[in-house]
Amino acid sequence: MPSPLLAFVALGSNLGDSRNLLLRAVNRLQALTDHPVVVSDLMQTEPVDCPPGSPPFLNAVAAIQPRLSETPEHLLTSLQQIENELGRRRSGVQNEARTLDLDLIAFGTEVRQSPVLTLPHPRAHLRGFVLKPMAQIAPQFVLPGQSRTVQELLNDLLP
Ligand code: ADP
Ligand code: MG
Repeated sequence: MPSPLLAFVALGSNLGDSRNLLLRAVNRLQALTDHPVVVSDLMQTEPVDCPPGSPPFLNAVAAIQPRLSETPEHLLTSLQQIENELGRRRSGVQNEARTLDLDLIAFGTEVRQSPVLTLPHPRAHLRGFVLKPMAQIAPQFVLPGQSRTVQELLNDLLP
């Protein structure tokens, strides 16, 4: 059987009840697919490129099998709606503390380069807080444009 098309969503929170927010977000993701969402452990990570004094993050990655009619653009809009409904407020400060961040890491083999959507996520292959949880659920996945698997990219990052 051919492997199903999968979309990967990185979840992050460093404001409010992060654990609860991530679990609620996973529930919302379940409403976007007819198949069970597969989710990594929730992992605490240090802030990267954030304002000084930013609290640590709780991160996870979820895999969903999008419905046939789903598009990357529409899925991103759904993710932003979930962020807003779960209390995300944007002040405009880059990488400020956030209740919930849902980034679309990949949507099968789709590639995008538009102001609203870059696919795969341009920094996913460099970020331990994405690669580590993703390696739990999809170690052999190769992000479009990369030649190494998620597990191999993670191994490269480890000291
Ligand atoms: P952050 O870069 O901290 O995740 P935001 O969540 O506020 O910041 O996202 C900023 C913008 O990034 C959004 O307006 C969105 O359109 C854009 N964007 C581009 N590509 C992606 C992607 N793959 N996943 C999520 N957002 C993306
Ligand atoms: Mg984001």
